[in-house]
Amino acid sequence: MKTDRRRFVITVGARLALWAAVFTLSVSAVVCLILYVGLERSLHREVDGFLEGEIREFQSILVEEGEEEDLDEVEREIRRELGSRLRKDLTFRLLDASGRLILTSDPKDPFPNPWSVERKTSPLEFATFFTTLRRANAHAAARFCNLPITLRGRSCLAQAGYLLTGVEHSLAGFRRICVLAILAASLLAPVGGILLARRSLRPIGFMTRTARRIGAGRLAERISRSGTGDELDLLAATLNEMLDRLHCHVRQIQQFTADAAHELRSPLAALRGAAEVALTRNRSAEELTQVIADSIEHYDRLNRIAEDLLLLARADAGEPIVLKERLRLDTAVEDMVDLYAPLAADRQIELTFTERSEAWLDGDGTRLRQLVGNLLDNAIKWTDPPGRVTVAVSRTNSAAHVTVTDTGIGIAPEQLERIFDRFYRVDPARASNGRRGAGLGLAICRSIAEAHGGRIALTSQPGRGTTATVILPVGAS
Ligand code: ADP
Repeated sequence: MKTDRRRFVITVGARLALWAAVFTLSVSAVVCLILYVGLERSLHREVDGFLEGEIREFQSILVEEGEEEDLDEVEREIRRELGSRLRKDLTFRLLDASGRLILTSDPKDPFPNPWSVERKTSPLEFATFFTTLRRANAHAAARFCNLPITLRGRSCLAQAGYLLTGVEHSLAGFRRICVLAILAASLLAPVGGILLARRSLRPIGFMTRTARRIGAGRLAERISRSGTGDELDLLAATLNEMLDRLHCHVRQIQQFTADAAHELRSPLAALRGAAEVALTRNRSAEELTQVIADSIEHYDRLNRIAEDLLLLARADAGEPIVLKERLRLDTAVEDMVDLYAPLAADRQIELTFTERSEAWLDGDGTRLRQLVGNLLDNAIKWTDPPGRVTVAVSRTNSAAHVTVTDTGIGIAPEQLERIFDRFYRVDPARASNGRRGAGLGLAICRSIAEAHGGRIALTSQPGRGTTATVILPVGAS
C-alpha cells in the first residue's frame, strides 16, 4: 500500500480528464476546419456566379461594339459603358490569341496574363473557365472568369476579374474566430474534463471508503447505492451481493466452530468428571477398570466427531473424499443391513431388504457403507418399537436408487429444509434412549453422495415415517 502511494500513478480521474480534453479539442478543431472549408467554398461559388454574369455582360458589349469601331474606341466605349457599373474590385480585359492585352477597363491593370499562366487551358472551347491570380506586389488575389470569344475573326479571351480582398478579409476574420474558439476550448476542456471525471468517479470514492471500513468484524456493512442503475450502481450491487455471500459464509464458519466446540465439550467434560471422581479416594483395581471401560464410549464419540469433521473439512476444501473402484452397490447395502440387523432386533424393529437389483458403479465401498449405515442408524434410532424399516436397491438405465424407509416419528416439513445442515438436530428434547447424535450424520451422507456425483433427499410425514433416497449415477454395466 505504501509503495503504491509513493509511486507516480496517473489516476483514472486524470486519465478521464485528459481524454475529455483531447476529445473536446480535436472535435472543436475538426468542426472549425469543416466550417472554414465550407465558408471558403461558398464564398468562391458566390464570386464565380457573380463573375459569370459579368462576363456575359462584357461579351454582349464586345459583340455589339467590337465589329464596328477600332479597338481604342471600343476600349473607351467599354469604359464608358461599364463606368457607371464599375467597382474598384472589378476588372474587364480582352486578350488576343498570343495573350497580349488588347483592351482593359483598368489602365493600371496589375494582373499577370492569365493566358500564359493557364496555357494548358484551350481558349477555343468557348466555355467559361476560372483562374485565381495573385496581383503583383500585393497580398490579395483576384478571381477571373475567362471566356474565349471570336472578335473580327480573331480568337480572343474576354476576362472579368474580381479582387478577393473582401473574401480574404472575411476568411481571415473567421480564422481568428476559430483560433480563439480552439484556445478557449483548450483552456476549458481540461477544467470540464476534471469536473466530469470527478462527478462520475464520486461513487467510486464512496465505495473505496466503505470497502476500507469493512473488516471481519464489520461484515454487515454495505456499499450505499445511487439507485441510478448505471454501471457504478451495478458494481455496488454486485459487491454487496458478494459481501452477502461472504457474510453468510463467515457466519456458517462461526456457527460451525461454535457447534463443534460445544459438541466436543460434553464428552470431554464427562471424561474429566469420571477421572476426578476416580481420584477422590483410593479405588480398587476393578473400580478403576470400570472407569476406564466407561471412558471408552466417550473416546469413541470424540473419535467419531473428529473423523466426521475431518471428512466434511476435506469435502469443503474440494479434496477427494472417495476412492473410485468398481463395486456392487446392492452387496454393500446388504452388508450394512446384515450389520444393523442385531441392533434392529434388539429394539424390536423389523428390518427387511425388500428389493435388491444388481447395481454396479464406480465408487468408494467404505464411504457408501458409511452412508447407508448413517441412514439405517437414523431409521432404527427414530422408530419406536414395534416398527418397520425397509431397504431397497433399484436401478434405472443411468442411476441406482437406495431407499431406507421407516415407520418412525417423522420430521416436520419446516425442519426437513435444515436437516442436512451440520450439527442440526430436530428438537434436542426428543433425544433420549441412546438417540443422541452430533447432528453430522446427514451432512456426511450428502457429502458422500455428492462426491459420487449423486444426491440425497428426505421425505417425511410426522408420526408416520421417513424415507431417505440416495440416487447415484452408474456407469455402463
Ligand atoms: P445425527 O448424527 O445426530 O443422527 P443427523 O444429521 O443424522 O444427525 O440427523 C439430524 C436430525 O435429523 C436428527 O437429530 C433427527 O432428529 C433427525 N432425523 C434424521 N433421520 C431421521 C429419521 N429417519 N426419522 C426421524 N428423524 C430423523
